[in-house]
Amino acid sequence: MASPDHSLSWSGFKEGVLPCVFCDDTLKDPKKLPCLHRVCRACLNAKIEGQKGDVIRCPKCSFQISIPTNGIDGFETDLLAQSVGKLNEIHLNFNKKKKQERCSVGCGRRSLPVYCFKCEGYLCDKCNKSHHQKVKAFESHQSALLTLSDFSLGDGTVQRIFSHIAPKCKYHPAKTASKCCDNCNNEVVCDECATESHGRHAIQQISDTVKRSKKDLNNLLSPMKEGIADVQSKRSNIDDTKGAVDNKIKKTSGNLQTSHKNELSKITTVENLVGKRCEERILNLKNDLKVEIKSLENSRDEEIKKVTEKYEKLINEKKEKAATTEEKLKTILKREKQKFEEIRSTFNATHESLVNDLSVTGTQKRAKLLEMQDHFDQIVVRHEHLIAVLSSTLATDNDWIIINGIAGISSAAKDLVQDINKSFPSLASLAEFPPYKLEEVSPRCDESVWKEVEDPFTTKEDIITADTENGKETTEL
Ligand SMILES: [Zn+2]
Ligand SMILES: [Zn+2]
Ligand SMILES: [Zn+2]
Ligand SMILES: [Zn+2]
Ligand SMILES: [Zn+2]
Ligand SMILES: [Zn+2]
Repeated sequence: MASPDHSLSWSGFKEGVLPCVFCDDTLKDPKKLPCLHRVCRACLNAKIEGQKGDVIRCPKCSFQISIPTNGIDGFETDLLAQSVGKLNEIHLNFNKKKKQERCSVGCGRRSLPVYCFKCEGYLCDKCNKSHHQKVKAFESHQSALLTLSDFSLGDGTVQRIFSHIAPKCKYHPAKTASKCCDNCNNEVVCDECATESHGRHAIQQISDTVKRSKKDLNNLLSPMKEGIADVQSKRSNIDDTKGAVDNKIKKTSGNLQTSHKNELSKITTVENLVGKRCEERILNLKNDLKVEIKSLENSRDEEIKKVTEKYEKLINEKKEKAATTEEKLKTILKREKQKFEEIRSTFNATHESLVNDLSVTGTQKRAKLLEMQDHFDQIVVRHEHLIAVLSSTLATDNDWIIINGIAGISSAAKDLVQDINKSFPSLASLAEFPPYKLEEVSPRCDESVWKEVEDPFTTKEDIITADTENGKETTEL
């Protein structure tokens, strides 16, 4: 538990309490958000009225706030900020050269270095000395007198200033309250309320309730302290994880691209080889045909007169066979090319789906990390603010302010512990990716493909035989 900070100066203290998180100006009619940030009543009202849903966000820490059913009145008044506002106003008034107020005793003077919280008015030096300090009826006012020097004295200034403010009953503002009601959320009550409207309730001394509330609060703060350390360490590791995720995506997509490119070039190599072989085969076929025809022509020339027709017929047959074979080869080549196209397209689709999956997974991981980052940043801001509010509340050393503040601080601490314990995937799991490897699909050059095509010139022997037979026939003729 933070102990009262005696070194707090008034000006530093009020600067930490008075700005409105909406308008950034000095708070007017301060309301307290559940995250303990403070707003002007008018600013909060404008925000609520401009809101379509039933939720608003604190502009400072992004905490999500449900708008109470009774609207602005459902938000608690910030007693600490209200008191600081009042004290600030008195302080500014002390320093003002031209004052509107006159001495509350009725002397008409305008030089007013004293303020009485009991009379709720300013006093001149003379009336203070002759009236408040001497008249027995005003004896109880002496502890409620605030002077300009209270603001400028050194150590313990804040504590001294607040010591002049006595708790007041909500229903009887003129009465000092010294008791708390257990049944009514530690409401501060005057003697009259304690015996009447809270007559059947458990009434405690305000100081006892403060002591007990501080203890309860302490029990809430220790799990928060442990949790916040974990949040801070995770928060500082998020940037590293984000970097690791980005690197992994870059590296993996680079690897995929490289193996995609390599594999495609292998497919093209085999495809080209198949094409080249087929073309070679066609070329050979044509050459063979030429040779074949030449040899037939030679034979024909020798026996031209006898069997011209037979040779013409043979030549035409050879030509036809060669043409058919060439056609077959071209069909095979076309079919093979189509096969390569299919391999390539399946392969491209696999590559694309891997790249896509990598990008979706990466986006999801990045989004989760950003969500965690925002969440943790919000927690750190809320935690810092909670500790600041706690220490400024305790610094007043004023039981009334403390009892009023502690309920909100406890509930903010509970919310914070709950958000600290919100579960997220571990950073290690977010940095991990599946392997994302492209299979090798490049085909081999399949020689069996060519076996489907018979070589039309394996019948070379037949030609010679035919030739010889022809010769015989001719001789016989
Ligand atoms: Zn404001
Ligand atoms: Zn906030
Ligand atoms: Zn007085
Ligand atoms: Zn006077
Ligand atoms: Zn009560
Ligand atoms: Zn009362």
